[in-house]
Amino acid sequence: MNEMHYQLDLLTAMNQKLMGNEKMFRMICGTSSNAFLYYIFSEDRFEMLGLWQHYFDFPIRSASDLHRLINCAKAEYISALEETLFCENKHKESQIAECEMQDKKWLEFEVTVTYSETDEPSEKIIRIRDVTKRKKQTEELKYMAYYDSLTGLYNRNYFVRILSEWVRKAQTEKATIDVLCIRMDDFKRINDSMGMIAGDEILQAFGLFLRDLQSEDIIVSHFNDDIYYLAIYNPYGNHNVDAVYRKIGQRTEQPFQMMGNIEQKITVSIGVANYPESARNSLEIINCAEIVQSQKKESGTNSIAYFEAPILTDFIENIQMENKLKEAIEDHAFELYYQPQYDAGSKKLRGVEALIRWRGQDGKFVSPAVFIPLAEKDGLIVQIGNWVLEEGIRVYADWYRKYGYPMVLSLNISALQYKKADFVHHLLMLIEKYQVDPALIELEITESVLIEDFNSVVDKLNTLKEYGIKISLDDFGTGFSSLSYLKGLPIDTLKIDKSFIDTVINDHPTRVITESIIAMVKKLGCETVAEGVETQEQYEYLKAVNCDNIQGFLLGKPMPAEGVEKILSSIKN
Ligand code: C2E
Ligand code: CA
Ligand code: CA
Repeated sequence: MNEMHYQLDLLTAMNQKLMGNEKMFRMICGTSSNAFLYYIFSEDRFEMLGLWQHYFDFPIRSASDLHRLINCAKAEYISALEETLFCENKHKESQIAECEMQDKKWLEFEVTVTYSETDEPSEKIIRIRDVTKRKKQTEELKYMAYYDSLTGLYNRNYFVRILSEWVRKAQTEKATIDVLCIRMDDFKRINDSMGMIAGDEILQAFGLFLRDLQSEDIIVSHFNDDIYYLAIYNPYGNHNVDAVYRKIGQRTEQPFQMMGNIEQKITVSIGVANYPESARNSLEIINCAEIVQSQKKESGTNSIAYFEAPILTDFIENIQMENKLKEAIEDHAFELYYQPQYDAGSKKLRGVEALIRWRGQDGKFVSPAVFIPLAEKDGLIVQIGNWVLEEGIRVYADWYRKYGYPMVLSLNISALQYKKADFVHHLLMLIEKYQVDPALIELEITESVLIEDFNSVVDKLNTLKEYGIKISLDDFGTGFSSLSYLKGLPIDTLKIDKSFIDTVINDHPTRVITESIIAMVKKLGCETVAEGVETQEQYEYLKAVNCDNIQGFLLGKPMPAEGVEKILSSIKN
């Protein structure tokens, strides 16, 4: 009897303990944000624990009910979920499936199976967790890592990654890849004139069009500002650039619709590089395409240029030249030469044009026609131009003190120098510092100075004129719209370009134009200077048609300062 009491007490105590444990487990499950399914194999019975009702509005009682749960997943996740839920994994670790459900929630299913001593599956726990938030954050991060937020196109990093994969694939498949660097022309102008929002809009609109060109073998990316890249994988080694170029041409014939019913047409310039012809790794191919693109010369058309080896050689030479130019600025390796200009009738010295000379390390001169355009491209011209201004004015002041001869000093000024806010101030400061007469300083400008911002340049020219400084229009006749510019411009002198002088003797139309220019310029009250006069015949002709001044090898080549001093001293004596 005692024994029975004892057994009963023991059972009651164990029961209480078990109930306590179950209560504890239920509490733990209830307070977590997960739902649980507890399964006993021998009974084919499921128990639902935790926040089951929060997740699902149906019960799971036996293994056959699991299909209801599985069918809640989106089609593409069903088989993975099925495999996970029915798994009888003998390895200790649990099995996990992450699935997107029909209601767009992301759920994680973690399944753990326990085994009896006889190695039979005894129990299974399925833990269900809502991972939507984490998934969204990961997606966002992934998006940020892969996409450009402005256009929704792939970003640079992702493009490089895919291109690198394509290059590896192309090596084994003997395929080729074309990479197009596509730059929207004049984007800066659109952005400046219509505002940043409109600028973004046009970038997005064009990006959207490019996105539609994407396919299994075409990937498009927005790198930055106005630069897009497109890569074409050509599995059969053929080139498919033409088709893409044609589509871009067709699309850009039509304007893009912007907010406020504004229509905007664009053109692009495209540089194409190719794997394996141009380069053999992704970054190099991208660089090659960019280099080709940057060589674009004409604007207003959809231009396309293909990579050729000399382009790269030129580019490298330019870079080397650029570095040498920087050194030259530091080493003061520049000199000024001066070319005399004479009155056509009296042959009296009118003045000199200062022309820069750069003596390279080998002692030979590098032509300014080569390095000035380069210096203009990378902005070094501002420092170089400032040196020319000061050196020219300093030497000129010295001559004036010594010889007292009132000749004109002509200085070539680049567009970038004019653009600097302090250009006028800087020049006036030099004139003051060296005490020269501003009326004897003449600035030579070319049409390129006027093209970008006509009104602000004219304002500056007017200010310069107020101080008595002369303005000369250089290389006249080489641009298209020179004549139309003339009327709004406060110029004193017009230089007829050497290309006219070269043909003026033998070409009748050139003669007609030259004579008309001279007559017209005189009516406007300006002086003319003929450039590049090399022969006596040219000189006689120009004198006969009333050209005011002559500059050229015939009467004097550019010379160092000492040469000018010789001329000046001969005039004096
Ligand atoms: P440019 O201003 O048109 O200068 C005239 C160029 O023609 C000079 O070449 C001069 O040496 C050359 N020349 C003059 N007479 C004759 C001739 O009878 N026959 C031939 N064949 N050539 C003649 P240079 O000195 O090589 O200068 C080339 C260009 O470099 C200049 O053209 C100018 O655009 C630029 N440049 C030169 N110095 C400066 C400077 O200090 N600043 C800026 N911004 N540009 C400069
Ligand atoms: Ca000049
Ligand atoms: Ca010239």
